[in-house]
Amino acid sequence: MKEEVIVIGSGVGGLASAIRLAKLGNKVTVFEKNSFIGGKVHTREFNGYRYDMGPSVFTEPELIRELIALGIDQEPFEYHALTESFRYFFSDGTSHILPTGMEATMNVLVAEFNENPQKVHTYLNRLKKNYEVLKPVFIETTLHRFSHLFNKNLIPAILNIPRYGLLISMNGFSKRFFKHPKSIQLMNRFATYNGSDPFKTPGLLSIIGHLEFNEGIYFPKGGMVSITERLARAARSLGVTFELDTPVQSINVENGRVTGVYAADAFHPASIVVSNADAHFTYEQLMPQVKRPAKILRQELSSSAVVFYWGINKEFKNLGVHNIFFTEDYKGEFNAIFESKTLIEDPTIYIHISSKAEPTDAPSGCENWFVMVNAPINIGQDWAALVEQLRSNIINKLNRVLGVDVASYIETEYINDPLKLQQVYNGKGGSIYGNSSNSALAAFYRHSNHAPSVKGVYFAGVTVHPGGGIPLAINGAKIVERMVREDFNAKTI
Ligand SMILES: Cc1cc2nc3c(=O)[nH]c(=O)nc-3n(C[C@H](O)[C@H](O)[C@H](O)COP(=O)(O)OP(=O)(O)OC[C@H]3O[C@@H](n4cnc5c(N)ncnc54)[C@H](O)[C@@H]3O)c2cc1C
Repeated sequence: MKEEVIVIGSGVGGLASAIRLAKLGNKVTVFEKNSFIGGKVHTREFNGYRYDMGPSVFTEPELIRELIALGIDQEPFEYHALTESFRYFFSDGTSHILPTGMEATMNVLVAEFNENPQKVHTYLNRLKKNYEVLKPVFIETTLHRFSHLFNKNLIPAILNIPRYGLLISMNGFSKRFFKHPKSIQLMNRFATYNGSDPFKTPGLLSIIGHLEFNEGIYFPKGGMVSITERLARAARSLGVTFELDTPVQSINVENGRVTGVYAADAFHPASIVVSNADAHFTYEQLMPQVKRPAKILRQELSSSAVVFYWGINKEFKNLGVHNIFFTEDYKGEFNAIFESKTLIEDPTIYIHISSKAEPTDAPSGCENWFVMVNAPINIGQDWAALVEQLRSNIINKLNRVLGVDVASYIETEYINDPLKLQQVYNGKGGSIYGNSSNSALAAFYRHSNHAPSVKGVYFAGVTVHPGGGIPLAINGAKIVERMVREDFNAKTI
């Protein structure tokens, strides 16, 4: 292939698309509105504390290795295999450490939550089986082209339908296997991995937990940012060029076919354009002349987040790399996020401390806390007031659970809120994962990896199929590559 390709955005989905399309022989240029590569996977440093600004939970490292192997530089991609997944803290003062691996996870759930070993075993195996049958038909292929969907893997996926929990909520699915309210809450948490509500999202989505429980959780050496640094290196080694600080202003379409984009007030021709930007933003701002998939763009959006990046001049021995401080009112928390579009007084708090795995991420004797609370999308709330109140609620809660005066240890602070996320990444309302999965048919209301009404326009990233999270965005790029090969009669890589 020798097409001119433009990728809009350098998030993981954009980088993976650039690598794959360059490997096919195309001339690829990535336009990025920000001054840095990586989208939400980028890093900042404040007074000697280094932070990954977005994702922190990393699974399926083989997907990154596969992309790096397409480039020329073959230096190994290194990461820590974490021995524990998360530390969970409950308001009654109890805490639990979950290991990784099916057997070890089962032992903790049985010993510490008094769960039935047979049921836990069935649950973890069910997640594994569901993941394995769905991956080749749903995650690695598109639902939007018959040629992709109809393959030998479809029959096992159909036969397995009764086991997915499609007609009950994730909460209902968890309750089939667990009886302790704390283990149910713990299983329900996986709905937040694609910005959804466990009381509405289908039980099917419990498969998200499979990777963490059964396969393992990792942390890249050098931080999450080394993922996008290595992908950018692989892309450059294949001749991909990056235009930073260059927002694409519009996508040009003539006679139903893309002809290029306007950026920096100049026209850049292309026969293939891959948008890694939010699908809503792409239709509304970049190609308003194109017929929109109205039903898809009308769906409820996934949640956003408020993140405090705190430099803490103390070490906390009882905290790990990933820590959750649960609310007592999980249902109320999701109602606030999705219905009243506000924050509750006692939110669930996630604290990620990368310096536990990478000590140079904080000065000696200190820790870099990434303190995140799930939040509603931006609809014009007074974020300054909400964030000020949230900060004080978080500190009160942490003081109570950890038995210290947390505020006295904060020596640096930076804050992200839904409005800032919207402005920095162009995500609609600052939503992190595009449409939510708060209904049984949500998967079918996620945008395809191609634009049905314009030849040559494709999508890869968390707002389109197959969904939210780094592994899914990377799989989306694989689907784009296949669609491009089909549409342009090209050979495989
Ligand atoms: C606080 C937070 C925590 C998260 N935690 C996790 C986690 O633990 N694990 C996980 O897997 N995922 C997590 N996510 C989701 C995560 O961000 C995604 O999995 C992934 O990083 C998104 O990749 P993407 O390919 O969709 O692109 P994005 O990272 O969204 O990048 C899109 C890019 O497009 C650019 N762009 C937009 N408009 C234009 C334009 N007009 N012209 C040029 N460029 C443009 C943007 O600047 C951006 O660089 C988290 C997200 C946030 C915000």
